[in-house]
Amino acid sequence: MGAQIIDGKAIAAKLRGQVGEHVTRLKADHGITPGLAVVLIGEDPASQVYVRSKGKMTVEVGMNSYEHKLEVDTSESDLLALIAQLNTDPDVHGILVQLPLPGHLDEDLVINSIDPAKDVDGFHISNVGLLGTGQKSMVPCTPLGCLMMLRDHLGSLSGMDAVVIGRSNIVGKPMAQLLLGDSCTVTIAHSRTRDLPAVVRQADIVVAAVGRPEMVPGDWIKPGATVIDVGINRVDAPEKGAGKTRLVGDCDFDSCVAVAGAITPVPGGVGPMTIACLLANTVTACCRANGVAEPEGLTA
Ligand code: NAP
Repeated sequence: MGAQIIDGKAIAAKLRGQVGEHVTRLKADHGITPGLAVVLIGEDPASQVYVRSKGKMTVEVGMNSYEHKLEVDTSESDLLALIAQLNTDPDVHGILVQLPLPGHLDEDLVINSIDPAKDVDGFHISNVGLLGTGQKSMVPCTPLGCLMMLRDHLGSLSGMDAVVIGRSNIVGKPMAQLLLGDSCTVTIAHSRTRDLPAVVRQADIVVAAVGRPEMVPGDWIKPGATVIDVGINRVDAPEKGAGKTRLVGDCDFDSCVAVAGAITPVPGGVGPMTIACLLANTVTACCRANGVAEPEGLTA
């Protein structure tokens, strides 16, 4: 086993600590408490778990948490009315609508109805455009967390070859923009990429965001490369007992760890950073909304 393990849990705890200090300062110096509203439609078990832990951590760093749980058959107009109300609520600085939405709701319409200044997920087309043109934006939490871990481990990323596997709007594309912003030479690979192993073997930085359990083996990895495994896949674990499962990433950890220079584990890598970045984005949004100087180190 050669690679250094990038401890996402520890880096996330440090970031949450910094967020907490900024919240304390905002309260003491400006009388402002940042507030994050999370909207959950329906009863998807994984989404319920995410929303619960987001709410818990929001409160732990001293911010206000507003949870809105709506029935699975909530109409689009009722959801848009709630978002319009949150958009104008001065106590709400960040709005997150938990995805995926039930099928009858238009995801693009819903996301683009959020005030871009409160769009702490960074999915609104205005924020996508601002990020793509290198302007100040709200940056999507998962790729932001990946970037922070890369900078923490590597320092400057300038000139490095980076391969992002996956081209989703929530991970792959914004990840590529962020790496480009840090002057990497970026390749985005996807399901139609020819000879994916050869493409990945060129990379100093590999970000795997595919959603296929343990798809990337160690012999695709250039020796010494830094591997960020975004995947969260639940697989059967008969070794733990009948009906048991475990979480694995998109990379085959055991073979990758032997070749890579550094790698994020699953769990305990990207996952904790995503929530910490959501809290960081809420503080950033709160500072911008109130004309307070933005703290260093909370965004890209
Ligand atoms: P997604 O929307 O399903 O996108 C998956 C991407 O992988 C697509 O671009 C797809 O290519 C590509 N792909 C699929 N099969 C491939 C193959 N055989 N070879 C190369 N590329 C392939 O997924 P996502 O939302 O980006 O999420 C990706 C993973 O990250 C999932 O496991 C998800 O659970 C995890 N995730 C984790 C966090 C976190 O906080 N840790 C946050 C978000 C997502 P095409 O476009 O050509 O179909």
